[in-house]
Amino acid sequence: KIVILDGYTENPGDLSWDGFTSLGELTVYDRTPAEKIAERIGDSEIVILNKTPITREILSSCPGIKYIGVLATGYNVVDTAAAKEKNIIVSNIPTYGTAAVAQMVFALLLEICHHVGAHSEAVHRGDWTNNPDWCFWNYPLIELAGKTMGIIGFGRIGQNTAKIARALGMKVIAYDANIIESAREYGEYVTLDELFRQSDVLSLHCPLLPSTEGIISRESIAKMKDGVILINTSRGPLIAEQDLADALDSGKVYAAAVDVVSKEPISADNPLLTAKNCFITPHIAWAPKESRQRLMDIAVENVKAFLG
Ligand code: NAD
Repeated sequence: KIVILDGYTENPGDLSWDGFTSLGELTVYDRTPAEKIAERIGDSEIVILNKTPITREILSSCPGIKYIGVLATGYNVVDTAAAKEKNIIVSNIPTYGTAAVAQMVFALLLEICHHVGAHSEAVHRGDWTNNPDWCFWNYPLIELAGKTMGIIGFGRIGQNTAKIARALGMKVIAYDANIIESAREYGEYVTLDELFRQSDVLSLHCPLLPSTEGIISRESIAKMKDGVILINTSRGPLIAEQDLADALDSGKVYAAAVDVVSKEPISADNPLLTAKNCFITPHIAWAPKESRQRLMDIAVENVKAFLG
């Protein structure tokens, strides 16, 4: 029995699930609220999910689970320590969305630099640059060529981001806990403090770990250039959100764009919602159709490998 807890199936025909149907008795749910997780897993052996949390309690109430496939790169939604104790295999899918997430970094960054949405809305309203109340100095445009992009976590997505940054004429510096020799081609490794000191744009691509939680905080922001731009497409808790909101409001950080927040869906009292110049998208960097189908195809291969 295979259960998919959050398949986002509202758009029929969007993705093909055929690969799974030949592997077992498949049930697919669009999304699963917390109170229904255990009931929907029931006696399924194979559980597939994207963001539905699998806690120690869920694992205890569903003893039939043998394999959990996370349809994502980050697998912090599963209590892997508890899964390991119960000999449950957990797999993630590290490679499917590398291009999509790096592309999203620039969707966010270029929105900050060009305000395409706001300018287009103005034109639709009947404004043009000859309207003194609506001119580009209200929404300053920023050229990225010659600026320095600092990347924290120089793995797959970090290196792809670096390639695009370089194509735009940016200088790339990177900090990573592990140095990958082949990555030197895409940027220069520096210390974390040096990265904070030099970056005009800072983009987060490290995983969420005890050592990276709150890596962007009041203390680290104090080390950054005035007017730095911050992009987070990795995981929300990498940022101490109140500290970032304060820095946005004071102008120390010029703008931020985050695809991920500490608590998802976002809480109404998240300080970033009211902070100045902060763009927030609902954790969609991974979601172009092409990468979601790739995700599905790799998930099927993983289940086949598990079944032997
Ligand atoms: P990756 O494993 O290829 O790269 C992560 C890098 O971070 C590695 O080089 C690793 O050495 C480094 N790292 C580990 N600990 C570190 C530390 N303490 N300080 C600095 N660097 C450290 O992973 P990836 O495929 O590039 O993905 C990066 C992150 O992107 C994932 O962890 C995931 O959370 C996030 N992600 C988000 C989305 C989205 O939709 N927004 C989609 C996919 C991935």
